[in-house]
Amino acid sequence: MKKEILYTTALNENGNIIHVNDTDKGEAYYCPLCKDKYILRKSGRVGKGTKRPHFAHNNLSPNCTPEGVLHYSFKKSLVDLLKRYKSE
Ligand SMILES: [Zn+2]
Repeated sequence: MKKEILYTTALNENGNIIHVNDTDKGEAYYCPLCKDKYILRKSGRVGKGTKRPHFAHNNLSPNCTPEGVLHYSFKKSLVDLLKRYKSE
């Protein structure tokens, strides 16, 4: 079975990369790639048949893919990490 790739990283209000597991309902999150507003899909339930927590675009973005976001998020968090490392 092909594993579905979901949007699991977002930018928060401060422009930081945040993982879906660290999100709070009621806060605003944005797509790191196309900067569209995300809808948080998090049921709070776990187990079989329950979809993993993920983000969905407010508007459908044909130029945006979960793979692209994953790649971008990884690159950005790496850069942030390096910046932090340098400033210490
Ligand atoms: Zn997007």
